[in-house]
Amino acid sequence: MIKFLDLKKQYAQIKPEVDAAIAKVVQEASFIGGLEVANFEKQFAAYQQAEHCVGVGNGTDALEIALSALDLPRGSEVLVPANSFIASSEAVTAAGLRVVFCDIDPLNYTVSIEDARRCITTKTKAIIAVHLYGHPCDMRSILDLASEYDLKVVEDCAQAHGAEFNGVRIGALGDIGAFSFYPGKNLGAYGDGGALVTNDAALAKRCRMLANHGRVDKYDHQFEGRNSRLDALQAAVLNVKLPYLDRWTQRRIDVAEMYLSGLSGIKNLILPVRASWAKQVYHLFVVRTACRDELRSYLKEHGIETGVHYPVALPKLQAYEYLGQDVNHFQACKQDSELLSLPMGEHLEDIEVKAVIETVHEFFRLKT
Ligand SMILES: *Cc1c(COP(=O)(O)O)cnc(C)c1O
Repeated sequence: MIKFLDLKKQYAQIKPEVDAAIAKVVQEASFIGGLEVANFEKQFAAYQQAEHCVGVGNGTDALEIALSALDLPRGSEVLVPANSFIASSEAVTAAGLRVVFCDIDPLNYTVSIEDARRCITTKTKAIIAVHLYGHPCDMRSILDLASEYDLKVVEDCAQAHGAEFNGVRIGALGDIGAFSFYPGKNLGAYGDGGALVTNDAALAKRCRMLANHGRVDKYDHQFEGRNSRLDALQAAVLNVKLPYLDRWTQRRIDVAEMYLSGLSGIKNLILPVRASWAKQVYHLFVVRTACRDELRSYLKEHGIETGVHYPVALPKLQAYEYLGQDVNHFQACKQDSELLSLPMGEHLEDIEVKAVIETVHEFFRLKT
């Protein structure tokens, strides 16, 4: 069986370190806040080349807290790319703002700048730049658009730990970046976790207060916030894993290179295209084909797990019927039935990657 994701194999490699780190938190009964969280925030800010990092409960909360901290007028419109996980748009609504979907670039699947521009109205106040599948958005164009129309830029970095735009790490390129440490992400905790990064000290402080009951001191609450803190046990796991991340990312890139060369030239199979500005960290390796379901079954029959990200583009979800946006407008809505995520991760052996490549070739040979 060639696994899509293999967290048990990863744990086996780091077991002594992880077990010791967890035991330490338990022995010290330092479950909320404390050294592990502070240390992780410091290390992760440095890793993402940001001045500040605030640990929070999960990636969805990170996005919502970021949007709340920006203090936009209620009901302001926020641009969200049509192909993403629902958290990218859910957070907008939860923060009292209005979702406006815009289309994606058909080659690298991140937001289309031209379509974002088309969607701007006088009520538009922010854009969520989702670095989807680990591929950074065209941040130069997004920042130019943002300064032209006075928009805030929130980066959804849930799939892009360590990704770079023109040699600079994503996260603090816009106003603020939201990360998820959901177990299956490139940097995953052993449960839920998230973080915000920014170079704006006042914004970081506001996020930290929003995530912790609006407090500056134990019972000094300056406004109402919520409870969404990064758990100390999760921070301890993340502290063990962070030093491995570059190695794991390099392995993802190597696997992607094998796929790109091994699968090139197959008619009817569209491979992902990396933009010239991008260090792509390949959270997912997504190919496109009109016979997606058949290919997926064929791979499954041959013991190869795959995924689909995402089977229904956001504007087509029942949850967004109320927006009344014309779904036929979106390239994202036309191609969602063609997306297929091949196994990707540092767990893959060369021999497994070769088997995936061979099996995909076999499928298309038999088809034609
Ligand atoms: C995973 C993910 C999130 C949400 O993160 P959680 O930690 O699961 O809440 C947000 N945006 C994208 C693009 C994601 O992939």
